[in-house]
Amino acid sequence: VVQVEYVGDLAPYDEEVAALAEVGADLTVIRAGDADALVDAARDADVIWLEWTPHLNRDVLLQLPRLGLAIRWGVGYDQIDVAAATELGVAVANAPSYCTQDVAEHAAALLLAISRQVVYRDRQGQQGLWRHGPAPHRRLAGSTVGVIGLGRIGSHVARIMSAFGANVLGYDPVATTVDAAVRRVGLEELLAASDFVSVHVPLTETTRHLFDTDTLALMRPHAVLVNTSRGGVVRQEALVAALDAGRLGGAALDVFEQEPLPADNPLRGRDNVILTPHEGANSPQSVRDLRREVCGATVEWLRT
Ligand code: NAD
Repeated sequence: VVQVEYVGDLAPYDEEVAALAEVGADLTVIRAGDADALVDAARDADVIWLEWTPHLNRDVLLQLPRLGLAIRWGVGYDQIDVAAATELGVAVANAPSYCTQDVAEHAAALLLAISRQVVYRDRQGQQGLWRHGPAPHRRLAGSTVGVIGLGRIGSHVARIMSAFGANVLGYDPVATTVDAAVRRVGLEELLAASDFVSVHVPLTETTRHLFDTDTLALMRPHAVLVNTSRGGVVRQEALVAALDAGRLGGAALDVFEQEPLPADNPLRGRDNVILTPHEGANSPQSVRDLRREVCGATVEWLRT
């Protein structure tokens, strides 16, 4: 088994090494490099665990004829070419639910932080400033929160928002079961009616730039966009233009089109924008669950 680390914050791997030893497997850990380094390290691997990079595309897969299972160390298959893997007989897996509550809580935290201007007010408090802000706070109870994508995370966000007394609208063209807290509406109605919009869709060809000039223009001028899904769902250029023109109340973002966020990114330095560096999933509990899920699936696969 080869684990392709991203930042190297998961060591030591004692639990994984012990669990794999029981099925006669061992673990090699490499730091994410380029595809060549991956191929070199994983030439004899039966299983690859992949955090973020490099991409497991057709070209790389063709150079790993022994590979039987590729597990994405997280939610989604962002960097695995699933079609090519399937065609080449490589099973793919991920850990879809290890951080559902964490991301939902992060979205809720961002939404509350922006409605109560916590970050802006903290800067004032730290400097001993005692004055009104540029805009009034917005009470969440009685406000309308639009949740886009009513899967695992979106549904949990809807329940949290409902517990705060918000009216929750939801849009999802696919979901078959929807929580009682949610009134299901069309996308345009949701955008026109919501004071806060929280996005929880996967990044696909349909959802890429779901938030573009036209969709952002449908939002209320005081409304706030919260994105903890994937950066590509929001066209940054359009978001920046809407914020510059005062056509949007603010944004709270955990994910970006380009990560890490470049130093000269125009979203930086704004009082009505909160930026967290793709940390929504992170908690000791989620990391523990993720590790157990990935290792457990591997052991099961190696046994069969
Ligand atoms: P999920 O698959 O349970 O739910 C996604 C929902 O989106 C589904 O119900 C689907 O029907 C719906 N959907 C698909 N296309 C849509 C569209 N065009 N409009 C509206 N709804 C649409 O996924 P999840 O576990 O809830 O994760 C949601 C998002 O959160 C994913 O993008 C995932 O990558 C992201 N995520 C982010 C972090 C983070 O660290 N910030 C961590 C985990 C997951």
